[in-house]
Amino acid sequence: MKLIILGAPGSGKGTSAAVLREKYSLAHISTGDLFRYNIKEQTPLGIEAKSYIDQGALVPDDVTIRMVEDRLSDPDCENGYILDGFPRNIKQAEALDEMLAKTGSAIDAVVYVVTDDDIIMDRVTTRRVCEKCGASFNVKYMPSKVEGVCDLCGGNTIQRSDDNEETVAKRLATYKENTQPLIDFYQARGLIVEGNNNVDAETCIKSIEDGLAALGLK
Ligand code: AMP
Repeated sequence: MKLIILGAPGSGKGTSAAVLREKYSLAHISTGDLFRYNIKEQTPLGIEAKSYIDQGALVPDDVTIRMVEDRLSDPDCENGYILDGFPRNIKQAEALDEMLAKTGSAIDAVVYVVTDDDIIMDRVTTRRVCEKCGASFNVKYMPSKVEGVCDLCGGNTIQRSDDNEETVAKRLATYKENTQPLIDFYQARGLIVEGNNNVDAETCIKSIEDGLAALGLK
């Protein structure tokens, strides 16, 4: 199964991706994570990508596309994968089509996690993340047992600097601008499977699983 997952920052996309990865034994390919790994390891790719990422800009398409093509040739992708953070625009979507066509394959479905802006705003501005292990908590909906302390590793939980109201509004606007054309692109092919995450993660996952089954994917 070859999936793409789309969803706004704070939509709950990460949670859905994790469930799908487990359920269908997929490799989870997050371009943001791949860039962060390359930056940490100071590879030539990481050094090139860092300047863009630090400015909040997108890394150039040719660099990103090469990285994804390389990653898709790894053995763990043979059983299927879920692409997270890629494609981010139509040029990348077309490049993905081309690289898959070389092996006679194609994307099976595009999972679209939909959450209303006011709910995202509420969830993201109350989110806390562990400085040490990255685990995510929420002061309103999923507080850590001891305030400010990670349940998993004992590290400090903090509010990300970009999880404030003004920045979240900007991130949402950027996301919509870039993503709507992609939704249209895949909708035209009948590949969009929607999960509504306004209520809770279980309801969202259930509708995604039903949508995938309706496309014959199990
Ligand atoms: P993310 O973790 O998905 O929010 O990505 C973090 C950063 O990595 C983004 O702000 C971009 O600078 C870069 N990035 C991730 N995915 C892509 C992509 N598909 N195209 C270009 N840049 C990307």
